[in-house]
Amino acid sequence: MPTYTPPLRDMQFVIHEVFNLVEELKPCPRHADIDVDTINAVLEEGGKFASEVTQPLNRIGDEQGCTLDAKTHEVATPKGFKEAYAKYVEGGWPALSCDPDFGGQGLPLVLNQCLYEMLNSANQAWTMYPGLSHGAYAALETHGTQEQKRLYLPKLVSGEWTGTMCLTEPHCGTDLGLLRTKAEPLGDGSYRITGTKIFISAGEHDMAPNIIHLVLARLPDAPQGSKGISLFVVPKYKVNADGSMGERNGIHCAGLEHKMGIHGNATAQLVLEDAVGTLVGEANKGLPAMFVMMNAARLGVGNQSLGLTEVAFQNALAYAKDRIQMRSLSGPKAKDLPADPIIVHPDVRKMLLTAKAYAEGGRALAIYCTLLLEKELFHPDEKVRAESAELVALLTPIVKAFLTDNGHIATNACLQVFGGHGYIEEHGMSQFVRDNRINMIYEGTNTVQALDLLGRKVLSNNGATLKKFGKLVAQLVEEEGVNEKMAEFINPVAYLGDQLTKFTTEIGFKGYQNADEVGGAATDYLRVLGHLVFGYLFARMAQVALRQVEAGNTDPFYQAKLQTARFYFARLFPETATLMRTARSGVKVLLDTDAALA
Ligand SMILES: Cc1cc2nc3c(=O)[nH]c(=O)nc-3n(C[C@H](O)[C@H](O)[C@H](O)COP(=O)(O)OP(=O)(O)OC[C@H]3O[C@@H](n4cnc5c(N)ncnc54)[C@H](O)[C@@H]3O)c2cc1C
Repeated sequence: MPTYTPPLRDMQFVIHEVFNLVEELKPCPRHADIDVDTINAVLEEGGKFASEVTQPLNRIGDEQGCTLDAKTHEVATPKGFKEAYAKYVEGGWPALSCDPDFGGQGLPLVLNQCLYEMLNSANQAWTMYPGLSHGAYAALETHGTQEQKRLYLPKLVSGEWTGTMCLTEPHCGTDLGLLRTKAEPLGDGSYRITGTKIFISAGEHDMAPNIIHLVLARLPDAPQGSKGISLFVVPKYKVNADGSMGERNGIHCAGLEHKMGIHGNATAQLVLEDAVGTLVGEANKGLPAMFVMMNAARLGVGNQSLGLTEVAFQNALAYAKDRIQMRSLSGPKAKDLPADPIIVHPDVRKMLLTAKAYAEGGRALAIYCTLLLEKELFHPDEKVRAESAELVALLTPIVKAFLTDNGHIATNACLQVFGGHGYIEEHGMSQFVRDNRINMIYEGTNTVQALDLLGRKVLSNNGATLKKFGKLVAQLVEEEGVNEKMAEFINPVAYLGDQLTKFTTEIGFKGYQNADEVGGAATDYLRVLGHLVFGYLFARMAQVALRQVEAGNTDPFYQAKLQTARFYFARLFPETATLMRTARSGVKVLLDTDAALA
């Protein structure tokens, strides 16, 4: 059975030593009084909740899955899920970073980010139930009417009710312009909604009495395609004017998907038959409104893989120290044993360090993104808000796709460390691989993230946002360029920054002549930019660690950080050269292939 220890030291290192979060947030009135001790205390308690309450349910959730009662359309979650959720609500965890106006605690988003990393390590399937509520909360807070906020937000904030996002239909996944669910005005400000949604995570369950569905649908006179989509809030139980639960609404679960992983999370087919809902935001502007939820969810999905990368690493490391097989090529290391622990073998170390580097780089990126998001929302200076928003937009597809692809590589590497025992269910490693697989697919597949990054975030503004990130890289290079000890971390970042500028111009030029060139290069491009971002963050982490070591600090944490950074730059970062080469081979070898794909 896998175990899990919350990586509190690394979180504190990134939050306090690398990003100096308390000082950075001082100008934001909401966080002017936040201090290091409060942050550390919340992280510690959150870690306890994850490791003691939800982690022991991870295996049970995988084995039992969810069950649908075909007569009542109610869904039972695995044994213990409901009780754990009640404890979560009782502990006030759903309200951690929500707005105090709606009952939230108003604490920095970074706490929610780290709490969710730990919850995902412990049990991704369980974590999705409360996780989706945050997206519904964000969409209603940004686009809801005062009445919708009054009726729904306090209950979502307290966790008394949960939320979902209902986009997908049988014939429409990536291309939401194809969706058919209908919304007809009832004349009293509400709408009758009819249609079928599939693959709805946490779409039905027994953990909370009411579920608040955010549903995309079309009004009768809506234009075709994605410009004719509106967003509606459709509760499972209608809500009375005083906020209490009313009669059952016309939305029910008609089936549950049988799937590869996240068995403990109910993936529901939802049928809307004369369901009643209210419009969120403007008519036909549902997609931009839903994007608030989707962006939150994209960061959340990257965080799911970060959690799985960390827990897979921890368990593979413990196994590699314990399992003895063969002798080290350079002579026995554990002479009192009949063979050496497998951790002596270079390739086993490579697999372990790959997962460790992807966990630590991912954590730094996720926390960095949350800090920017905080500034986007709460900083008093409009310019800082705008610049932070631009960087968050640039980094969101990277968090979603780079972290989930890395999660795939890392969980597979950790399974491999277990050899055949990794393939056997009782060790839990295969569950990490299976659970992670969906993260590369939902919330817009990783291909869609790559197209969003290269097409919308980079090329559409001629690289202006990318240049802003480039300035941060240049600043670091200037700061540390003369420090010989930093050369091994700074030089590769400076070199790639330079290469990426040329690479972007080249793709932009080719794409101008043939738009398919962008599609042919996008996934490679995202990984190259992902590594530039990781490289920048690893260089910043190495900078802090090196200063501590030079000042005589003997805490092995700093040596470990430097060793991981060295491994990252030597063994993972260089894949950028291959990726740029493959992207440069162009789209012809992909499209002139009708005979090969006949
Ligand atoms: C377990 C699970 C949970 C889910 N939870 C939710 C949920 O809570 N709410 C919700 O609304 N949906 C949910 N989904 C749906 C999920 O978001 C979609 O499956 C996903 O967006 C992809 O859509 P699709 O499956 O229809 O694939 P398609 O859109 O049919 O895509 C098939 C393939 O074609 C590729 N492709 C499509 N268009 C392009 C293009 N222009 N360029 C290049 N490649 C392209 C895709 O990347 C993919 O590889 C969930 C799905 C699963 C399996």
